[in-house]
Amino acid sequence: MITIPVYNKLITPYSDIYFQTDTVSESAGRVPSLNEKVVIIIAKEDLSRYEYTDDSFYPIGVTGIAEEVNAQGFLKIRTANRVNLDMIGVNPDHSIYLTVSKRPEVEDLEESDEYTRLQALKAELSEAASGFRWSEWVNQYTQMVDSIGSLACGLSPWMQISNEEKYAVLEEDSVAARTEMLEKMLYEFLEVTKVSGEATASQQKKYQDMYRESAIRKQMEYLQKELDEMHPENVTDIQRFEQKIAESGMNESARKEAEKVLNRLKQEGQSSAETGMLYDYLDFVTGLSWKKEDTEYINLDEAEKILDEDHTGLKKPKQRILQQIAVMNLRKQQQGSILLFVGAPGTGKTSIGRSIARALGRKYVRVSLGGVRDEADIRGHRRTYIGAMPGRIMDGISKSGVSNPVMVLDEVDKLGVSYNGDPSSALLEVLDPEQNNTFTDHYMNVPYDLSDVMFICTANTTDTIPSPLLDRMEIINFTGYTPEEKLQIAKEHLLPKSMEAMGIDKKQLKISDKALKAIISDFTMEAGVRGLRKRLDTLCRSAAVRISKGNGEKVTIGPEDLREALDARPVHHDKALRNKRSGIVTGMAWTQVGGEILYIETLFTKGNGKLIITGQLGDVMKESAQIALSLVKSMFPDKAELFEKNDLHIHVPEGAVPKDGPSAGITLTTAVASLVADRPVSPKIAMTGEVSLRGSVSAIGGLPEKLMAAERAGITKAFIPAENEEDLKDVSPEIREKLEIRPVSEVKEVLKETGIID
Ligand code: ADP
Repeated sequence: MITIPVYNKLITPYSDIYFQTDTVSESAGRVPSLNEKVVIIIAKEDLSRYEYTDDSFYPIGVTGIAEEVNAQGFLKIRTANRVNLDMIGVNPDHSIYLTVSKRPEVEDLEESDEYTRLQALKAELSEAASGFRWSEWVNQYTQMVDSIGSLACGLSPWMQISNEEKYAVLEEDSVAARTEMLEKMLYEFLEVTKVSGEATASQQKKYQDMYRESAIRKQMEYLQKELDEMHPENVTDIQRFEQKIAESGMNESARKEAEKVLNRLKQEGQSSAETGMLYDYLDFVTGLSWKKEDTEYINLDEAEKILDEDHTGLKKPKQRILQQIAVMNLRKQQQGSILLFVGAPGTGKTSIGRSIARALGRKYVRVSLGGVRDEADIRGHRRTYIGAMPGRIMDGISKSGVSNPVMVLDEVDKLGVSYNGDPSSALLEVLDPEQNNTFTDHYMNVPYDLSDVMFICTANTTDTIPSPLLDRMEIINFTGYTPEEKLQIAKEHLLPKSMEAMGIDKKQLKISDKALKAIISDFTMEAGVRGLRKRLDTLCRSAAVRISKGNGEKVTIGPEDLREALDARPVHHDKALRNKRSGIVTGMAWTQVGGEILYIETLFTKGNGKLIITGQLGDVMKESAQIALSLVKSMFPDKAELFEKNDLHIHVPEGAVPKDGPSAGITLTTAVASLVADRPVSPKIAMTGEVSLRGSVSAIGGLPEKLMAAERAGITKAFIPAENEEDLKDVSPEIREKLEIRPVSEVKEVLKETGIID
């Protein structure tokens, strides 16, 4: 047993090293110098305890000598003996003293036995190390090692052995048992090394493969792009869609939805039943323009020029359109209020939409709403439906290829309602500037911004348009054309177009103005110019035959050629007008196809005072007939017997039934009065106006159309309600000149002027 005074102490993470030194003054924590005597006490059992008592240390340690202190401060100690820590204490001068005694060793290991086991270990070790970069170093090291203990010592920094395990080795007195323990630890270490080596290697390979894969992928993409550019026909659809989605500039939700569908397409492959639907969807959404177009300043003079170039007349609508463009310019917007063009067919409502697009330098698209009954027609079918399709609005946008077309919604008055929802409410959303920037078509399932679309609606009548929808729009009336305007339209637009379509040159055909006028007056009977266009087409076709057969001379067509060339009989609108009989009076009516004249016929038949009404009359018209009857009875009290002994039969010929029932009031009254007084009224006199029971005449609608129709039909004098005099400013001067227009406020005035009463 020796008691060693210790002057210095070095604390390491693993153990406290106590060493002797001659220089007492040197402070603690110093690294021992070479060949200094060292006593190692294996680590404190509880590192948190600072007192120096026997039970705070492992009871066995080692002695040794400091052999090497390297530049990094590592201390290499050659150990000598295992010692028991018998006592530890603190001197009054604060130095520490230890009492240690050497532990006996049981030398029970055969040298030769250890040698063979060491060789086996070395072989294992070099095999385990063979895959590593440091295998060379391992081999060199193992050559030098002569005992299992040193081998364990050399490898211990890499071996994961707990202090308890290490201490267990130190504690063992039998050399053979100690060697066996170390051997076991070494073998375990080798196994762990192998396994983790494999794991590391495979992990490394995994990373390597990953990096390699992404590098190859990038390279492939680059090469594929090059190839695609050289052979655009070889790009697969999926790639094409991927590219389109990336380039389309879709909003976030649209992109997500498109990618979702694309992933489905990738998974489903080519053969699935759903593939077609997925394709269609991607085709559709990637074909849409998601780009916002710039708002351009429109030169009003240029715009006006374009509108005038495309359409003759239409002064008022054009004026209103220019106002709209001016407002759009000032507000820097691409859409203004929603215009509703109302008028008879062929009055240019749709075609002026195209012209507006041209004037604005924007794309034009026409969406027909006639006969639309399902909400899905506007808003699309959900994709879960078989044969699902986008609605007409998004379809129109798709056709236009831009996000800001001029979209003409044709025939909004022909929207129906069915059990499949109300299309007009969907349309309401389309036209609502508050909502239409996120219009969601069911088929697309993602919002689309319609706020830059310029919507224009057309209709023949406003009667059937639901009022919430009508409230959104600003009405512009297309009243139809006068014969003079029609002549101009025919000469400037319709005829040149027809001739071009038939391949006829200007030098080959001449159609005289007289012939054109005759076509307008005798072969058409319309507010617009659709029929006229058809007649001109027919004319040009038959002229084409004459030109082909001829010897290059110019073919001239005059009024006398029309009958044959048009292969039609002139319309005799004044047929009935020739028969002047009591009880028959001409009225003016407004129908969906423009103005019309109608003949109201009345007759007394033997009976007992009944009122018989025939013809397709609405309830309002029947009421008007009743009023007319009462009114005439009161005006002709001396004819009471006539009414009592007869039935009064009133007939309104089919086809001329006015949509605004009450406006026939004056005509009905005059007809009955004419019958009762037995005084015929000139059929060249026409009239319109609502009549009250007291005999006053009040305002009606559609005056310009009615007067135009009267003029077309050869009427010379027209009675209109005095209340409508204001509207005469909308009637073209040409008509006002040709017709004698008489505003009246009392039925009596009409009866007097027509000679029924004196
Ligand atoms: P709507 O839509 O009112 O039924 P459209 O716009 O289809 O009528 O017009 C029918 C045809 O008549 C078109 O070919 C159009 O170009 C022509 N047309 C109508 N009005 C005019 C006009 N004022 N000037 C020139 N062509 C016209």
